[in-house]
Amino acid sequence: MKQIGIAGAGAMGSGIAQVAAQAGEQVIVYDLGEEMLHRAEQQMKAGFEARVQKQKMTSSEAEAILSRIRYTTRLQDLAEVDWMIEAVVEKLEVKKAIFSEMEALSRGNALLASNTSSLSIAAIGQGLNRPEQLIGLHFFNPAPVMPLVEVVASLRSDTQVVQSGWDLVNGWGKTAVRVQDTPGFIVNRLARPFYAEALKMLEEGFAEIDEIDAAMRSRGFRMGPFELMDLIGHDVNYAVSVAVWEQFYCDPRFRPSMVQKRMVESGLLGRKSGKGFYPYPRPESPAVSVDAERAQRISNRILVMLINEAADALFRQVASATDLDLAMTQGVNYPKGLLAWADEMGIETVLQSLENLHHYFGDDRYRPCPLLRELHAHGKTFHG
Ligand code: NAD
Repeated sequence: MKQIGIAGAGAMGSGIAQVAAQAGEQVIVYDLGEEMLHRAEQQMKAGFEARVQKQKMTSSEAEAILSRIRYTTRLQDLAEVDWMIEAVVEKLEVKKAIFSEMEALSRGNALLASNTSSLSIAAIGQGLNRPEQLIGLHFFNPAPVMPLVEVVASLRSDTQVVQSGWDLVNGWGKTAVRVQDTPGFIVNRLARPFYAEALKMLEEGFAEIDEIDAAMRSRGFRMGPFELMDLIGHDVNYAVSVAVWEQFYCDPRFRPSMVQKRMVESGLLGRKSGKGFYPYPRPESPAVSVDAERAQRISNRILVMLINEAADALFRQVASATDLDLAMTQGVNYPKGLLAWADEMGIETVLQSLENLHHYFGDDRYRPCPLLRELHAHGKTFHG
């Protein structure tokens, strides 16, 4: 059993605290004020009460888990923890300050992890005496439900610390994948074309919103891009797109959509604002029927762009082929891993589609990854 400190009692911090306590660890959660801590505690209690009522667990199991979590407004109370996982606001200076203080308090004994989505672990570790003790542990929301954790290694992270982080979350029953400290890590990078290419097809009048959604559902995705963006919120989705694009020095592959920018400016944020691409509550409407060939044409355009991104991440050694595929099925419920999908579609088909798009638009966002050409030239596949 380990002592786990969590900084930040928001959506992610309390979710991670719950995961750790459920796995039998002793947890101590730190936040700025009693109010935040009280709210987090009450919400977690209510969640467990609902599960007890539905007979998914006994009340003594729930009590045992809750009794393993303590709450504090003093960071000093985390001095003796084995791991400190930080899930405070997404602000570099705030995160840096907490880690510096934590490093001093624990006299360098605690291993450190950040749950950041968009900052680099290298930048967060700047100024630490022992940046080798810091890694990323990127959980997905809601943490108790989503199986994936991206274990992020910075250039300074000690390989043993990375391995310990992997073992820690793996021991909690999570699917752990290793990834280099690069923008968007795996999921937030590879998923960009799911939204961007859908928005681009809409902008060009190539297909309608409900047609594109139906086409992607027909390929096994639980939600189409527009309904998913409405759920995530266009402000959040657009901000991630801009962050990834900027960090890749404005590579056209990641260029965000003007359509989405205007949605945000217009306050059409999706479900939370009552209207996005669809009105909410969503009226019952007859299911859109898209003929199979058209659905295939629409969905292929998104799929080959997703595959190209996965191929590029592999080419640049961001993660292994296995981890790239696991991340998308476990982190965002894709029906298949993207590289496995490429093998199934045929490398030649994927390459040819990308070359056609590149030629037609003359836009570098469609340039095929060299790895696709290489595999094709040698008659190989990603997993073969
Ligand atoms: P949140 O706003 O729900 O919670 C943040 C918490 O941090 C708040 O309780 C706040 O009081 C606390 N806090 C702020 N400054 C602090 C400080 N100096 N010391 C201690 N506590 C402080 O945010 P969230 O959605 O839980 O996100 C937290 C982190 O997790 C961010 O880095 C975010 O990028 C990342 N993340 C979020 C999601 C998501 O879907 N929400 C998914 C993965 C990662």
